[in-house]
Amino acid sequence: MHHVVLFGPPGAGKGTQGDRLAASLGIVHIATGDMLRKAVAEQTELGMKAKACMDAGKFVPDDVVIGMIEESITAPAAANGFLLDGFPRNVAQAESLDAMLHQHGLDLDHVVFLDASEDLIVERLCGRLLCRACGFGFHRHYSPPREAGLCDRCGGELYQRADDNKEVIVQRLHVYQEQTAPLLDYYSHQAAYRRVDADGGVDEVYDRLVLAIQDSD
Ligand code: ADP
Ligand code: AMP
Repeated sequence: MHHVVLFGPPGAGKGTQGDRLAASLGIVHIATGDMLRKAVAEQTELGMKAKACMDAGKFVPDDVVIGMIEESITAPAAANGFLLDGFPRNVAQAESLDAMLHQHGLDLDHVVFLDASEDLIVERLCGRLLCRACGFGFHRHYSPPREAGLCDRCGGELYQRADDNKEVIVQRLHVYQEQTAPLLDYYSHQAAYRRVDADGGVDEVYDRLVLAIQDSD
């Protein structure tokens, strides 16, 4: 059984690598950012509340994301395991996750820190394109779609996230340093923890990630 946490700065490649790893392990990829963007697009009550925080590059309240995660990790889709991407994002969320897992008799098997420098992050985020229909990610320069503006997988329309602009990226990096970086202290002494260098091509980073998972098996 694989219970994986993939954490790191925005733009490190959590979505890109998480999709691939979850598919290869046959586990569900749970990304709080994707779930929140879906709620915003569907204009649900939760989405309307979350939108302002997200557009400003701030976190949505802990209780909102913790509730979403509890539902997801106990759903039938997660029976074979799960990969968490974008959660936990601060120490309070990590503590809640531990409590939830404990309550359900589960454990984290792999905690991977996807490490990327600030220059790399800005470059990646500024060029990110997402499919409106299936959520698949592209990059204007590093992994461009075959046909401009259209998803290779499903033909859906590609868009740039509202928070992927320089001003909001600076804010997200600030919040990352303040709130998420302390997770390194929280996790780095645990046996399940591995650091993966996210600088390199998608395949190269994926190979490192697979080695890290095998190493902590
Ligand atoms: P995160 O989920 O950590 O915010 P993403 O997986 O969405 O990051 O990646 C951010 C952007 O960088 C996307 O446009 C993606 O296509 C691109 N990207 C991800 N990994 C790499 C890589 N190893 N090399 C080049 N571009 C990458
Ligand atoms: P992401 O797609 O992971 O870059 O997340 C996009 C945005 O969603 C973040 O900037 C936050 O506003 C919000 N978000 C996603 N995950 C969390 C989380 N675990 N805690 C708080 N806010 C989150």
